[in-house]
Amino acid sequence: MSHLLDNPTPLTVLLEDEVILRDSVRQFADAQVKPLVRDMDEHAKVPRQLIDDLFELGVMGIEIPESYGGSGGTFFHAVLAVEALSRVDPSVAVLVDVQNTLVINALLRWASADQKQRYLPKLASSWLGAYALSEAGSGSDAFALTTKAVDAGDHFVLTGRKLWITNASEATLFIIFANVNPEAGYRGITAFLVERDLPGFSIGKKEDKLGIRASSTCELLLEECRVPKANVLGEVGKGYKVAMETLNEGRIGIGAQMIGLAGAAVDHAVRYTKERRQFGKPIADFQGVQFQLARAAMDVEAARLLVYNAARLRDAGRPFLTEAAMCKLFSSEAAERATSLAVNLFGGYGFTKDYPVEKLYRDQKIGQIYEGTSNMQLMTIAKQIIG
Ligand SMILES: Cc1cc2nc3c(=O)[nH]c(=O)nc-3n(C[C@H](O)[C@H](O)[C@H](O)COP(=O)(O)OP(=O)(O)OC[C@H]3O[C@@H](n4cnc5c(N)ncnc54)[C@H](O)[C@@H]3O)c2cc1C
Repeated sequence: MSHLLDNPTPLTVLLEDEVILRDSVRQFADAQVKPLVRDMDEHAKVPRQLIDDLFELGVMGIEIPESYGGSGGTFFHAVLAVEALSRVDPSVAVLVDVQNTLVINALLRWASADQKQRYLPKLASSWLGAYALSEAGSGSDAFALTTKAVDAGDHFVLTGRKLWITNASEATLFIIFANVNPEAGYRGITAFLVERDLPGFSIGKKEDKLGIRASSTCELLLEECRVPKANVLGEVGKGYKVAMETLNEGRIGIGAQMIGLAGAAVDHAVRYTKERRQFGKPIADFQGVQFQLARAAMDVEAARLLVYNAARLRDAGRPFLTEAAMCKLFSSEAAERATSLAVNLFGGYGFTKDYPVEKLYRDQKIGQIYEGTSNMQLMTIAKQIIG
């Protein structure tokens, strides 16, 4: 780490391996994802072949060590991959994001040696993961979850329902949070590794959404689902720590999703305004338009700096809680402003599905809701600065 202190690198200057990863994901996104975007949005589905291709590309197990078949990369690599995919499709970006920054991240930190051996090679090669904390009655107040886990000898019996679970349609492994001792409040919350085909576990209703439509968001049903004790992730009663520590990092990934789509919106707007002519010249010649684009570019750059800094702090093992909350909050608001401007600058065409900005405008909204709403990020920041 000392070289970083002696010679700090500009945040947006990438190392050679980072450039290689970003460029290969960008190429993949343009060649393999772009042709499918409209259809995936319309049919609210990511084809399995594309998920297989993402595994092939090496972005589904970025931080998994090579000894388990992963890419042996950094958290920052995951951020670059999510940003590059989100420029083309924020739904595909969040699929990759949840896999890396929530599911694999939690396993790398909390799984036993046996669990790592059982699950990391599969997560690196073909299994998609999902992360199930939220319920109908507990969102921002996540520790109010009511899914119960009853100790029954060599296993726990889980009963309850989860809501809003990303990747649920396609996932094979689910990290599910349940309470083993509701009287102890959050100190009863425990994380479990649940495989899709476990009896008593099923996938419920799929949500019909405003944006990131291709990303599946479903209810999970646990009806006396017997989960072996060997599948407790971390310690019994320490699930609240698993949840919070993972989400603190995960929201940097959502920041990456937001800067990817915001950057794409600005690029689309620049290209279009240079082509579209009104009053005898390209609309990009009007200073009123130029100033709007300049402000949007500045916004995206500021958001990118916050996201990259939070990710690099995390990889350096330094505190990043406030920076992660700021990056997610700011980048989601920057994405709202950038996509709204892009729709405006496309005029009537921006309001149609014939151009990509309409979808980016819909896709950005989720950034202010999941992995902690904007108000929750403000609470985290306020707590850090005020105490
Ligand atoms: C598309 C999508 C995908 C998702 N994926 C996942 C997933 O994979 N796994 C998972 O576990 N969850 C997931 N979620 C759930 C998501 O994290 C929650 O929706 C989010 O945390 C907000 O919870 P809520 O919807 O219950 O809203 P609420 O908590 O009811 O909040 C409603 C409003 O009240 C505000 N509010 C609440 N409390 C306070 C307070 N104390 N002070 C000020 N304002 C407050 C909020 O900011 C918000 O504006 C997903 C949600 C969506 C929509």
